[in-house]
Amino acid sequence: MKEKKPEKKGTEIVRKPIVAIVSYEKPLSSVRKAVDLAHGLDNLPRRARVFIKPNVVFWRGVYPGVLPKWGVITTSRVVEDVVVLLNERGVNEIIIGEGPVFYPKDEEAPTRAFESLGYDVLKKRYGVQYIDVFQRPFETVDLGEGVTLNFNNDFLSSDFVVNIPVLKTHAQTVVSLGIKNLKGMIDMQSRKKCHSVNPEKNLNYMIAKLPDRLPPSLTILDGIYTNEGGPGFDGRIRRSNILVASPDLLSADMVGAKILGYDPAEVPHLLYAAKHQDRPIDLSDVKVVGRKLEDVVCPHKYVAPYNEEGTLPKELEKRGIKGLSYRQCDLTLCTSCFGLNMIIPTAIARAWKGAPWNEVEILTGKVMLPSAGKKKTILIGKCIYQANRDNPDIQEMIAVKGCPPSAKAIVKAFHQAGIEVTAEIFEQRESLPDLFMKRYRNKSEFEESHFVIE
Ligand code: SF4
Repeated sequence: MKEKKPEKKGTEIVRKPIVAIVSYEKPLSSVRKAVDLAHGLDNLPRRARVFIKPNVVFWRGVYPGVLPKWGVITTSRVVEDVVVLLNERGVNEIIIGEGPVFYPKDEEAPTRAFESLGYDVLKKRYGVQYIDVFQRPFETVDLGEGVTLNFNNDFLSSDFVVNIPVLKTHAQTVVSLGIKNLKGMIDMQSRKKCHSVNPEKNLNYMIAKLPDRLPPSLTILDGIYTNEGGPGFDGRIRRSNILVASPDLLSADMVGAKILGYDPAEVPHLLYAAKHQDRPIDLSDVKVVGRKLEDVVCPHKYVAPYNEEGTLPKELEKRGIKGLSYRQCDLTLCTSCFGLNMIIPTAIARAWKGAPWNEVEILTGKVMLPSAGKKKTILIGKCIYQANRDNPDIQEMIAVKGCPPSAKAIVKAFHQAGIEVTAEIFEQRESLPDLFMKRYRNKSEFEESHFVIE
């Protein structure tokens, strides 16, 4: 169902969607304050079947402590507080659902993630169910304009959704908030479809359509930790202590974008969504309550800075790397290939020994074309190989054709291009979080207890 527009009388708006901004101070009372100020559960149907959608994007290992979750995964603190509030209102049918992606495939990872986050405690205490949506049925939904996507059935058939994304940036979509969080409710085929090569129906256009069949909902942006250069654990995480709540998804996202330093008009999927819902994009039809918006704005960059030519991340350029071009990924790159972006720069940095490489270019996604004068072109993924396999502008093609490409094939390709990356960093992708965990040692503001339910 399309989100309800504010009613208008002439040009006067008589009911503005409310968005509450509160500081996170302590368990339960902070979430309660945000929800109450926003009237977030006022329209909760009696005996509702409620679906909670957190953001659980990465997991590994068996020990919860070794994953840098701050600013990446929704805190269990907020999830538990929401369950308590629902319980107080007599809700006894609650499902927590997520469709996390793991590569290499790990069938047990979702359960391990949910249990490590304490959802099994919520099950024992409140009868909450938790599901990996990939193990559940999907239903094809026609979203109009020729777009069909397959949505998880439990989500579609719930009476009420509590959508709890992290307040974070995203290298492709500028911000990843409530609307983007709904991408976890569609199946893998639909997710790939969202990264379309059609510029008129690109990722931003597609995700703006995700709320069309959203049941009545409450959105809570969990900004206890926020993520600059997100959405993953390679971003720069801040302790921000902000909660944003609204019964209106788009309004919550527009305020969330503003907090992260972006006018909603600068966020293409919010622009699409506002147009789609016939809403202004300048927050003029939104009522902000609680803390003042201008007092909590804290700019977060959404991409790691690149050099002026756009050919290399500044981080790599600073090391003096020459003879390599690795452009910023585009919207066509889907999640499995996107994950490689956390590894490739580190692998390149470690392989650099000071001697220029032989004009190597790395292409990703589905539509990139080679630059002039490159001697070796590494094509990462089946899609970019198919787009360029007959391209006469490529002098030496080094194709990694998998979907997603295998670690072994990527390492072989780099070696063929003369870049001696180590196999371990790709093969032991699982150990990457350990590397990032070092950033959090002895920093008391990053609390492990926010991801534990006792
Ligand atoms: S090769 Fe990469 S970009 Fe292409 S469909 Fe597979 S995961 Fe997506």
